[in-house]
Amino acid sequence: MPTIFTKIINGDIPCYKIAEDENFFAFLDINPNAKGHTLCIPKKEVDKITDLDEETFMGLMKFSRKVAKAIESSMVCERVGISVIGLEVPHAHVHLIPLNQMKDATF
Ligand code: 5GP
Repeated sequence: MPTIFTKIINGDIPCYKIAEDENFFAFLDINPNAKGHTLCIPKKEVDKITDLDEETFMGLMKFSRKVAKAIESSMVCERVGISVIGLEVPHAHVHLIPLNQMKDATF
């Protein structure tokens, strides 16, 4: 049974695609923590990030950094947070979350 993310890669579930190469795919998160929240995934279906082979892990990190830099230069944000959570969908993925400081916040 393919994961939701494999269905997205195959076009069986619609998504807003951000980037793609031979081995990796990036698309907007359906339930974003911030505008531009993006997920980067390997096309190879592997459950946990810790189960990825070395080459795929390094490739995913390089791809994610490239996409993060593109988001940083195209959005009004200070930086892009890079996070690996992975509780909900059993297909290794990296979250890219555009961040801005709340300089005038009062609590
Ligand atoms: P995690 O597994 O890291 O806890 O979270 C998985 C992420 O995938 C969540 O942020 C969730 O909003 C996102 N997600 C789950 N299903 C879909 C979907 O069908 N399409 C998109 N674009 N994102 C999804």
